[in-house]
Amino acid sequence: MSDSPVWHPFTQHGLREPIPLVTHAEGAALYTSDGRRIVDAISSWWVTTHGHANPTIMAAIAEQAGTLDQIIFAGWTHQPAEDLARGLTAIMPPELTRVFFSDSGSTSVECALKMALGYWLDRGEDRHRILVLEHSYHGDTIGAMSVGARGVFNRAYAPLLFDVGTIPFPAAGREQATLDALEAACAAHPAAFIVEPLLLGAGGMHIYPPHVLAEMRRICARHDVLFIADEVMTGWGRTGTLLACEQAGVVPDILCLSKGLTGGAIPLAVTMATEAIYQAHYGTDRARMFFHSSSYTANPIACAAANANLAIWRDEPVRDRIADLAARQATRLEALARHPRIANARQIGTITAVELRGEDGYLSQIGPRLLAFFGARDLLLRPLGNTVYVMPPYCIDDADLDRIYAAIGEACDRLG
Ligand code: PLP
Repeated sequence: MSDSPVWHPFTQHGLREPIPLVTHAEGAALYTSDGRRIVDAISSWWVTTHGHANPTIMAAIAEQAGTLDQIIFAGWTHQPAEDLARGLTAIMPPELTRVFFSDSGSTSVECALKMALGYWLDRGEDRHRILVLEHSYHGDTIGAMSVGARGVFNRAYAPLLFDVGTIPFPAAGREQATLDALEAACAAHPAAFIVEPLLLGAGGMHIYPPHVLAEMRRICARHDVLFIADEVMTGWGRTGTLLACEQAGVVPDILCLSKGLTGGAIPLAVTMATEAIYQAHYGTDRARMFFHSSSYTANPIACAAANANLAIWRDEPVRDRIADLAARQATRLEALARHPRIANARQIGTITAVELRGEDGYLSQIGPRLLAFFGARDLLLRPLGNTVYVMPPYCIDDADLDRIYAAIGEACDRLG
């Protein structure tokens, strides 16, 4: 048993794995109480885009904290939220005219699902079923888990999860089977299809091509099935463009954003929707409004951080930084991929992933051994079983990237 009363997420405390205490962070580095400098190779669970303690974001948070900390958002508003909603509608697809705030990626997905069902209720159609893609992950609340892959991590809660229609993942060479399955499922009038565009993250870093995403969108449109893009992970440049959907020319009916929305500094999420979905909840009938809130909806300090993130995207060469990081990752991945232990080396934008041969699955024994191996080399890398992925902040330098790839190569050599 640990001395600390803290219960950590996705952590088996009985294994007594060391839990470093981080005292401060800057750029791509974390500093621990025992004097170590750790390279944050996964952007602290995929959130930190412009680096830790980004001065623009930190200044915005400090200034806002001195002005307005928190205000109920039902029936009240504040300038940071107004500015953020306008800023988002200006840079996201123009069809997405409305912005609903929440606090995490999971809640942005919950809101998306509730908006979809509210839309169909308003239309007087009995549509409830949600279609999902195999291997998906959309969060850990009950609704978000329901639309994600089933497995050991949600087995205990299975009785609480609702039934969904699962479309096979469009693996290379099997894309048509996916599209056929989606077409057939859409013909039965489901409410919506939710997807992680181009990259299924926590489900194993599975990449699929833009033309498949575009065709999936067309099928949904043809059958009047709402298309929900969960860009919680892929948004804010991770896949090379601001949104992954951009690469396929896809505009969703509902868009979920979080993680990099505040540059990764503070929790905030939005669910953006088309005018038709907003109008389905609009009127003078109080029984028709959108029934969702949390105490901290659109917290002003979080909104100020997100406005600073938008300013960074507007004023700094973020797209160049992303292209540069993608190129620097590509060179190192190419070299690593030659290792005989490596299989399925892949990349999308700033993210790379490889698999270690001879092991399989999220609970494969190699996972914790890799974690310990990287930890001992002062690297924050958190493999998904035998899949090791690299998703650093955009400001990471070559020396730190070299350390990451050298350690993965060394793990291939030394871990049997
Ligand atoms: N959706 C996707 C695609 C994610 O990758 C994640 C988290 O990794 C979530 C939703 C859930 O976000 P959060 O952990 O902020 O609830």
